[in-house]
Amino acid sequence: MKKRCIWCNRHSDNIKEVTVTLPKRRGFDFETKTFPVMPECEKEFQSFADFMKEKTSFLMTGILISTAAIILASAGLIAELVSDRTAAWVIGAAVAAQGVLIVKYPFVTPETRNAFGVRSSVKVARVTGAIAALTGIIIPILYYFKTA
Ligand SMILES: [Zn+2]
Repeated sequence: MKKRCIWCNRHSDNIKEVTVTLPKRRGFDFETKTFPVMPECEKEFQSFADFMKEKTSFLMTGILISTAAIILASAGLIAELVSDRTAAWVIGAAVAAQGVLIVKYPFVTPETRNAFGVRSSVKVARVTGAIAALTGIIIPILYYFKTA
């Protein structure tokens, strides 16, 4: 039976098992897993796994901090403790920061990785991150148009 390469998602008879250490879902501890990989994809897969291992906790921390900022700014706005101008800036900056983080560290869930292969998942994550970054920039700009 032909197996599917975890990196490029292509089927091949020439697949080897490669064992890598990856961060678990939340990013703060690690597990060792074995994946089917074509020999020509092994180097790229291995270096991406190392990159994930090194940077996932950084990505998760960034996402947590920026999400907290969005929640605080929204709550402050509802409670009338912050102006809508401040809220627009904080939320815009936090959304943009999340987008930039995802472009730089395009790590996806195991489900996405298994469905599309790592290589395509990275592209999808980067596009999503770029859209988030643009959205974050547009939020304060829209605010200024609204109040101009
Ligand atoms: Zn491959």
